[in-house]
Amino acid sequence: MSYVSEVYAELERKHANEAEFLEAVKRILESLQPIVDANEELYRRNALLERFVEPERIITFRVPWTDDKGVNHINLGYRVQFNSAIGPYKGGLRFHPSVTQSILKFLGMEQILKNSLTGLPIGGGKGGADFDPHGKSDAEVMRFCQSFMTELYKYIGKDVDVPAGDIGVGGREVAYMYGQYKRITNLYEGVLTGKGLSFGGSLARPEATGYGLIYIVDEMVRTAGRELAGKTVVISGSGNVAQYATEKAQQLGAKVVTLSDSDGYIYDPDGIRLDIVKEIKQVRRGRIREYLEAVPTAKYVEGERPWGIRCDIALPCATQNEINGTQAGQLIKNGCWCVAEGANMPSDAAAVDAFLAAKILYMPGKAANAGGVAVSALEMSQNSERLSWSFEEVDGKLREIMVNIYRNVSETAARYGYEGNFVVGANIAGFEKVSNAMIAQGLV
Ligand code: NDP
Repeated sequence: MSYVSEVYAELERKHANEAEFLEAVKRILESLQPIVDANEELYRRNALLERFVEPERIITFRVPWTDDKGVNHINLGYRVQFNSAIGPYKGGLRFHPSVTQSILKFLGMEQILKNSLTGLPIGGGKGGADFDPHGKSDAEVMRFCQSFMTELYKYIGKDVDVPAGDIGVGGREVAYMYGQYKRITNLYEGVLTGKGLSFGGSLARPEATGYGLIYIVDEMVRTAGRELAGKTVVISGSGNVAQYATEKAQQLGAKVVTLSDSDGYIYDPDGIRLDIVKEIKQVRRGRIREYLEAVPTAKYVEGERPWGIRCDIALPCATQNEINGTQAGQLIKNGCWCVAEGANMPSDAAAVDAFLAAKILYMPGKAANAGGVAVSALEMSQNSERLSWSFEEVDGKLREIMVNIYRNVSETAARYGYEGNFVVGANIAGFEKVSNAMIAQGLV
């Protein structure tokens, strides 16, 4: 049995009920095979893979809170502190009813490699709760965030673990959690990123993941001798990542024709009017179908995802496993030649196989959506310096980081004999730095 298979079999035995985590590890380990083959003796001696797949620590806790009617609720809160070899744990908090330890471990594992790819000194972590902010009042969300932080604060700190937002955790939630952290600890420090501008947030952080996604797409497309201008783009989701990906794609001359939420998708062949989407999602916190009230010529398809719409470029920006093998086949058949993931692991294993087999440009999430965490790390730097950089400065650094990620991923793939396979490239490029640091630091 190969070293990779041995480690995976043992993990499967120990964590049989963690399907999402096992799936993520399997896919990552498979693509690390070339670097493991080249270093097997060294890795075995250092128990490297066995350590790489187990989080350094997982904290779970109950989160009691009271709703506006006075009814008490208990949710489950988590923080997975996965790997601190190259920096303090860093990764978002997700509030969604689907949150489990397995999902957070899968996201944490992805985060280790993503953070490494940014070239910045940040380790991997992820956390959240099975709390659903939809339909909750501001006061309920505030009470939940305060209760969540009343437990979490014990385990985080500006040089220990610096959480950020993710699904269901935006500026409002980060602000409530920051307020509670400060109140309990009496520290005014950069313990969370994605903060408001008036209390330590970075310009361009809200835009960073979406903009970064388009910067890497632009680089990838130009390297392939094509251009973004004039291309038709299909995007899923309508949250933070989807909105700012739409904004930057439109600025660069592409036409975005779809957005979605968990109820369905909108198709506007004339190009999505982002001002309307922002009003629905950021101001009213409404549903994407409300777009038709302002643009009756658009179409709304309930209960479906937009992968049947003809496009050049597809950008899944909602959630994990939102494209299956059949849908991937449909995209390719309709002429799609580029897929880049704004969301974390939105393509399932069959979809990834289909993209790789068709040899289209395919950039996995850990590279394509790394702009968010990169600017979060820049927020940490600004907090340490007690300085605020201009939008242009942060945006310029973001662009440079995304271009560097593309080059690193593409060169690493070629160096290991997998030219054009950015899955292998991203996983190995991220892993190289982390594994070197883990070996150098000894058996910890
Ligand atoms: P938001 O909460 O702002 O938006 C999420 C969007 O995806 C919403 O439109 C939501 O619809 C939709 N969605 C969520 N779950 C599902 C589901 N099960 N089925 C269909 N649609 C769904 O989150 P973000 O935009 O921040 O995050 C989107 C993705 O990007 C996630 O995978 C996240 O991990 C990833 N990501 C985010 C980063 C960031 O900086 N924010 C950084 C890197 C990755 P609805 O409102 O109906 O739930």
